Amino acid sequence: MEEPLLSVRNLKTYFYTYAGVVKALEGINLDIYRGESIGLVGETGCGKSVTALSVLRLIDFPGRIIEGEVLFKGEDLLKKSEDEMREIRGRQIAIIFQDPMTYINPVYTIREQLVDVILRHQKIRTRDSELKIEGFEGLTEVPSPTSKKDSKRAASGKAIDLLKLVNMPDPERVLTQYPHELSGGMRQRVMIAMALSCNPELLIADEATTFLDVTVQAQIFSLLGEITAKTGTSSIIITHDLGLVAENCDKVAIMYAGNIVEYANTIALFDNPLHPYTAGLLSAIPVLHRHAEKLDSIPGSIPDLIYPPSGCRFHPRCQYAREACRLEKPVSVEVEPGHYVSCHLFDKPKGSP
Ligand code: SF4
Repeated sequence: MEEPLLSVRNLKTYFYTYAGVVKALEGINLDIYRGESIGLVGETGCGKSVTALSVLRLIDFPGRIIEGEVLFKGEDLLKKSEDEMREIRGRQIAIIFQDPMTYINPVYTIREQLVDVILRHQKIRTRDSELKIEGFEGLTEVPSPTSKKDSKRAASGKAIDLLKLVNMPDPERVLTQYPHELSGGMRQRVMIAMALSCNPELLIADEATTFLDVTVQAQIFSLLGEITAKTGTSSIIITHDLGLVAENCDKVAIMYAGNIVEYANTIALFDNPLHPYTAGLLSAIPVLHRHAEKLDSIPGSIPDLIYPPSGCRFHPRCQYAREACRLEKPVSVEVEPGHYVSCHLFDKPKGSP
């Protein structure tokens, strides 16, 4: 059977603050196969971004990964040295962050920044074939670089190819511009181009289109889908927008308060949501042409992760909560092939295999 590209096992990440220990991730399990796209969905503060940052080992003080395994192509990233991780970040696993202005340097032109990333991560050598992005046609022909100047020129050619790839209008001009001269959608395209510049095997989009209007969001996601399908890149789409996931992901993982509570392929999850939290999220989506005085909502608010609720962390908000829910954390059960849920309503009877 095929090995997952990324396999996260019992991942726990805590933040040691003056107020107390924030138990942000409490045993995450997730498998991503080659070419697969997974949506990681949940309310703000449920641990989606912390999961992504933990996979890339970008958790800063006062945070710490305290337990678990992050197996990428069978090797545990939590055991790698910082130098080895630097090689993996960008080149094998790339991330697109929420706000491009925070991550694109405002005092350098797009050319300087893209060329820098390309040169840093991909050693431009003397064979033309190494300058090409696999899976794409119509790339600019660049001369074989023999000097530093040639390498830069070659990287510039590749930067134009990347901007064309993300459907950037007038890429030659954009290369000469500064980030503040571009629109939000164009800056996000630059971020995607940077992330793709090293042909990563796994691409993480962390709320990558939150600040953009819905038309640009749709364009960027269809572009990402096209690119990942062409290159066979796997992707993790982090969002709170179930509509985006329905249209763009093969599988969905629903997160609540540091746990994945339901995991299934997208159609199964939307057709048959099993966890009460998933059902609540789906029923809160307004339906076009259906008159409603008031939209459905999930009662209560997300818990304080310094003092999380005992047992099932969702129990203070769950209409089905019972004694066992307050006492024991539910384990993940495969209810139907590939459809997992962590909820006592689906516990197997004691003694069953
Ligand atoms: Fe609700 Fe209990 Fe299931 Fe948690 S385990 S979601 S409290 S029924």
